[in-house]
Amino acid sequence: MDIHTHKKSSAENVFSIENKYPTSVDFSLPFSMGMHPWFINKNKIEEELLIVEKQLQHKSCLALGECGLDKVTEADFELQEEVFRKQVRLSEKYNKPVIIHCVKAFQEIIEIKKEIKPRQKWILHGFNKNIQVAKSLLKNGILVSFGAAIIKNEKLQKVVLEIPLDALFLETDDSEVEIQEIYQKVANIKSIEVKELQKIIKENFTNLSSSSITEIKRCFY
Ligand SMILES: [Zn+2]
Repeated sequence: MDIHTHKKSSAENVFSIENKYPTSVDFSLPFSMGMHPWFINKNKIEEELLIVEKQLQHKSCLALGECGLDKVTEADFELQEEVFRKQVRLSEKYNKPVIIHCVKAFQEIIEIKKEIKPRQKWILHGFNKNIQVAKSLLKNGILVSFGAAIIKNEKLQKVVLEIPLDALFLETDDSEVEIQEIYQKVANIKSIEVKELQKIIKENFTNLSSSSITEIKRCFY
């Protein structure tokens, strides 16, 4: 299972959630859909929120996102927060977990979560920070997803070693690395079989949201 990718794997045994934007036209399935903070256009917010809301009702839309907060991008931060909160409301309304993009705004994400107290699970994708950041996310019920950085980044390998298996996901995002390679690496770090890791992550996913289970079952069994 590849929780977040921008290109579908050609391998038959890979279940991937392909990231879509409101401007996407090709909807290969299954997918996640959200407004990325990099592409927030002040004049199109309401229009794009309507598209997100419509697509969230698609049975093969398994998550809202990626969406989130980014302190390095040009979009106004307050506006980013507003758009993120609105999307969180939609995720609650349509019972979809949230895939979060976060750059230098971990505390803000945690504060919003504390304030809103969502029922849906939040997954912070592309995690590549230290163990302190990981622990504060986990403490606040935010799950983490690791991507291609895990292959070579030794500090991150130490972080993943400390993350409980039931709190993590794996992804390719926009990298060229195959998801199989990421599973192999994490299985090595955790000293378990790849098959065992696959089973755990599949369970993590089915535990996310009841609305996703039907689609998962259809694809897995
Ligand atoms: Zn991405």
